[in-house]
Amino acid sequence: MSTSQPSYVCGVSDTPLLFQTVGDALDCAVERFGEREALVVRHQDVRLTWCEFREQVDALAAGLLTLGLERGDRIGIWSPNRAEWVLTQFATARLGLVLVNINPAYRIGELEYALNQVECRAIVIADRFKTSDYVAMVHELAPELATASPGALRAARLPHLQSVICTAEVAPPGMFRFAEVAAAGGRAEREQVAAIAATLDPDDPINIQFTSGTTGMPKGATLTHFNVVNNGYFVGRAMKFSEHDRLCIPVPLYHCFGMVMSVLNCTTHGAAMIFPGEGFDAGEVLAAIQAERCTALQGVPTMFIAELDHADFAGTDFSSLRTGIMAGAPCPVEVMKRVQKDMHMDEVTIAYGMTETSPVSFQSSTSDPLDKRVSTVGRIHPHVQVKIVDVDGRVVPRGERGELCTRGYSVMQGYWNDAEKTAASIDAGGWMHTGDLAVIDDEGYCNIVGRVKDMIIRGGENVYPREIEEYLYRHPKVQDVAVFGVPDERFGEAVAAWVRLREGETASEDELREYCRGQIAHYKVPAYIRFVDDFPMTVTGKIQKFAMREAMAADLGLEAQQTA
Ligand code: AMP
Repeated sequence: MSTSQPSYVCGVSDTPLLFQTVGDALDCAVERFGEREALVVRHQDVRLTWCEFREQVDALAAGLLTLGLERGDRIGIWSPNRAEWVLTQFATARLGLVLVNINPAYRIGELEYALNQVECRAIVIADRFKTSDYVAMVHELAPELATASPGALRAARLPHLQSVICTAEVAPPGMFRFAEVAAAGGRAEREQVAAIAATLDPDDPINIQFTSGTTGMPKGATLTHFNVVNNGYFVGRAMKFSEHDRLCIPVPLYHCFGMVMSVLNCTTHGAAMIFPGEGFDAGEVLAAIQAERCTALQGVPTMFIAELDHADFAGTDFSSLRTGIMAGAPCPVEVMKRVQKDMHMDEVTIAYGMTETSPVSFQSSTSDPLDKRVSTVGRIHPHVQVKIVDVDGRVVPRGERGELCTRGYSVMQGYWNDAEKTAASIDAGGWMHTGDLAVIDDEGYCNIVGRVKDMIIRGGENVYPREIEEYLYRHPKVQDVAVFGVPDERFGEAVAAWVRLREGETASEDELREYCRGQIAHYKVPAYIRFVDDFPMTVTGKIQKFAMREAMAADLGLEAQQTA
């Protein structure tokens, strides 16, 4: 095969895109699988069939109408994984409200920014989660709640917000109780819900997701029904999903992984959604897999690593598992192999994507050869196009690295209210520039080899952190590793590595350097190695290398030499 074939791929399919709203997708699931299990939330003792689930969705939608919310209004949700999250996702979609996902780890400043940026009229909050007291934080931001009647807030710092709905058993001052709203709609509102649902267009915006902020201020990626329904559907197709599947969902709902790749995937295929806990806990995941006879498991790589290392791992029955998805960050080959072999996930897949592309663009299929399945992100998704370009925007030949750009149904409408940032990301040809470095081979398999911004340039040599990470992962004492560049007087940048060792192991810097010598080029051998217990991470498992770079530069006294 010619090696000069360009790095452009276009996904074909015998299945057309679904021209449906999120509500239509729910109706289809009810029609086809009404009596089958839809939602299991173990920590809340919730167990609903598709019929029962839709009933609760429509009741909530009717209740939201009593608050005066109208199609196109933005409504935030700030909560860990709970049944109310999923109900709110569908109830808002039924009414054409734009659901705004707010990261449960946000603090007051970020919440204020997010709510004001998209002008939320209402917000649904949990009362608390881990160290986050949501009620107290919202009260701090809007002290006017103390004396406001629910639904009539006028807050100086949140000028657009009128209603706060809380999942607590007892309503905090100025807030509605979630259960109260869900019971507030009467027959008239129910009829109105059906009438509104019938007027919605799949191309309406339905969701704003703040990008996870591994760099800079969060931006509100705006997605339509069409974007997310189709992506959820085709993600499930790649896993050969059906109504017989039961998906264990430890990934957060506020992120596209949970909301689209889990929830809308299950909805469009009639599979059951099983939530093992409010936040990620490896022990709860293992317990849920066994007790619920899950057939599939999703997670970011660090979640799988924690599950494989958990004390209960050996005693867990994985025999029901068949497939799943690892995604969200580079998936180490060794970890994939163990998941495939030791967790009975023969048909596990890897997916690659980003919030702005709904999210998935590449996914391995259950039948790809094993080596491709563990070492690449698979091939292009149906109906999606990708090209790999060099710094001048020219498509590179297959096998060469460059920036991955995505085009097709999955590309977001834009960043909410930010034409400038949208234009900086989506070019005139409709291509979303991802900032990811990738290589596509002759057969169309793709490898993500880093972030454009993470590439290290050491003395004129381009060094790709992923390559060094993959090598160090093979060391038997190494649990996890992150490689990044730090400023260096002589070479411009030097290679640094943070390493987490396996439980009970010790190692020296020299020992790891020795392991690299003669195996990888000298300029790739880390000049600095630190042994750490944890990496700075986003909630979705993305390592924040900028934070490591800053910490390391400070540690080495290198701040003065840092450039932009
Ligand atoms: P987010 O918008 O939070 O979903 O983050 C998207 C980013 O996660 C992408 O631009 C990639 O840098 C990274 N990412 C997602 N999936 C993968 C994967 N399978 N392999 C490597 N990086 C990934």
